[in-house]
This record gives sequence, structure tokens and C-alpha cells, in this order.
Amino acid sequence: MFGFLKKVGDYTRDAAGAAQYMTQGLAVTFDHLRRRPVTVQYPYEKLIPSERYRGRIHYELDKCISCEVCVRVCPINLPVVDWVMNKETKKKELRNYSIDFGVCIFCGNCVEYCPTNCLSMTEEYELAAFDRHSLNYDNIALGRLPTSVTSDPAVHPLRELVYLPKGEIDPHVVPDSEPRAGRLPEQVLETLPKAEPPAAAPPANPDEKG
Ligand code: SF4
Ligand code: SF4
Repeated sequence: MFGFLKKVGDYTRDAAGAAQYMTQGLAVTFDHLRRRPVTVQYPYEKLIPSERYRGRIHYELDKCISCEVCVRVCPINLPVVDWVMNKETKKKELRNYSIDFGVCIFCGNCVEYCPTNCLSMTEEYELAAFDRHSLNYDNIALGRLPTSVTSDPAVHPLRELVYLPKGEIDPHVVPDSEPRAGRLPEQVLETLPKAEPPAAAPPANPDEKG
């Protein structure tokens, strides 16, 4: 009899302890319901990619010299540089250039090493397509202007965490007028010392006869 009563007492104490822990847990859970969700509501809201974001590659055909450096530095030799040698001018003639974004890993090596800067990385990342062959961009597709989160009137652009003011973690509550953390590349350029114009050559001495 005494053993049974002890078991009942232990059970009641355990149940009361468990109920207390569950209540504490639920209190924390319900406390989270009072906060505003820090969720980016894509596609109506989009984060602004950082300045060094490696999105879709942009290409300028008129700058390309068909040197194929981009092919050699690419981990998978991906860019296709289609050129022919013009025997009369003894120069390469570029016919077409293409990059297959279904294969590209967006490492940026080609952009880094292109000697004429005709390649650049854009902030465009929405490249989804129904057909994988349509991801093979030719020089026309590579040369079109990239989409921009900030210039799309249907999108509310939000700052990434590192660009929010100090102590702020939710981009929704930060108005656009608020100064952003960190400086833009053009603001950094303004702080750099300006190059001095070359000093004018001293006038020649009229007494000296050469
Ligand atoms: S970004 Fe990288 S993988 Fe893509 S084409 Fe350039 S070098 Fe190749
Ligand atoms: S490295 Fe630049 S210039 Fe040379 S072939 Fe590639 S895109 Fe053209």
C-alpha cells in the first residue's frame, strides 16, 4: 500500500514538473508571436545584392579581342570564343561568344582575368528557365542590360544585414533615407587623394643657344 502511494506521489511530482517546463516553453513560443517576422516576402520584396555579388556575366562584343584568356582561366574551359583568322588583315575575327549558365559556377575567374574588361559580373540572379539549352547565352543575350532590384517598380528592395545601421537586424523598419552601413565605392573614391596634374615644363632659357 505504502509503495503504491509513493508511486502516485512520484508520478504527480513528475507530471507537475513536466507541466511547468511545458508552460515555460509555450511562454517562449508565444513570446515569439509578438515579434514581427524578419522574412523577405519574395517576389514582392528582394534583398539588394552587394557590390561584389557574382551574378550573371555581362559581355561586350566590341571590346573582345578573342584572346581566349577567359577560356584558359575557367575551371571548366566554359566560354566559347568562336573566331576565324582573316588572312588578309592577319587578325582574328570574332564571330560569336557564348557562356552556358547551366554549367557556369559563377566563380568570376573569366571576369578577373579578361585583359580588356569586356566581361563583368552583374547582380542578376534570376536565370531560371524551362529548357536548359536556353541557359546557353550568346553574345546578344550576354550583352543585354541586367535586371536591377532597385529599379523594378514592382519590387520593394531591402538592404542586406551588413548594410543596415548598427544594432538593426530587420531591414523592414529601416527607411530608405537612413544612412547605410559602409560606404559605396564612389564614396570611398572621393576620400582617396586626387592625382596631381603634371607640373608644367619650365620655359626654355632664351640665353642658352643650342
Ligand atoms: S564564372 Fe567561372 S565557371 Fe563561369 S565562365 Fe567564368 S571562369 Fe568559367
Ligand atoms: S578574355 Fe576577354 S578579351 Fe579575351 S576572349 Fe575572353 S572575353 Fe574576349
